[in-house]
Amino acid sequence: MNTPPLQVVPPQGPLLRAEHVTIEYAGAQGTVRATEDVSFDVHRGDRFVLLGPSGCGKSTLLKAVGGFSAPRAGSLRLGGKPITGPGPDRIVVFQEFDQLPPWKTVEANVMFPLLAGGVKKAEARERARHWLGKVGLARFADAYPHTLSGGMKARVAIARALAMQPDILLMDEPFAALDALTRRTMQEQLQSLWEEIGFTMLFVTHSIEEALVVGNRILLLSPHPGRVRAELNSHQFDLRSAGSAEFQAANERIHRLLFGDTPAQAPQPLAVGS
Ligand code: ADP
Ligand code: MG
Repeated sequence: MNTPPLQVVPPQGPLLRAEHVTIEYAGAQGTVRATEDVSFDVHRGDRFVLLGPSGCGKSTLLKAVGGFSAPRAGSLRLGGKPITGPGPDRIVVFQEFDQLPPWKTVEANVMFPLLAGGVKKAEARERARHWLGKVGLARFADAYPHTLSGGMKARVAIARALAMQPDILLMDEPFAALDALTRRTMQEQLQSLWEEIGFTMLFVTHSIEEALVVGNRILLLSPHPGRVRAELNSHQFDLRSAGSAEFQAANERIHRLLFGDTPAQAPQPLAVGS
């Protein structure tokens, strides 16, 4: 029997690395510092959450990862390469689903960025149908966006993003405008899609509960300007554990870390009962 030769595996760094990222806006009243010295690593398959109060720079960070703006200081790298602009390896899902062009059917909406990226029409259609099926919207391929509920629009946006097969899905409070029940359903669907496909996502929210349900790791950002307060492991929590005593304790602990005045050491496990 032949023994296969030993293979040398190249070391795999994080998929996304943010190092000492400071981002500023130039305004009429001077410079606004949105984030300060923010560092984190996102590994393949992570459901990495940026959590912090409104105005702490979450969207700013996500836009910089998307390549729509450049940090004032620090660096952002994807697969080891500096991020210098937008690219199909990073797709953003926003909260404003009305960005779906209303004159295009659901299927045409999903096909559009594929076609723009040079995918042939037949393949784009096939991929659109595949991903609409995955989010449970196969029957609505020919519908127009205005006929859909908020949750269904969110699912179209997710199908459209996943059809692009990005290295990382960037989600900016995608469910914030939905009612509580629909929001829960969407979190559930996102979780089962992740279990099925195993994509990587960077998810922004100001809801502690949503962060615990959605994320396997959570980066806590201080109020304006956003600085890292702590990084937590939260893979033990999901929708099923929401409402449990452990979940409630974690929720309260995060609240203290965010708004209390004793910053924790990062990273640390969110151990039950601690
Ligand atoms: P979050 O998404 O966490 O609510 P943002 O990233 O939107 O926070 O904003 C962070 C800070 O940067 C806020 O103080 C906000 O007012 C400021 N900011 C955001 N966008 C701009 C802009 N285009 N010009 C100037 N200041 C901005
Ligand atoms: Mg925001």
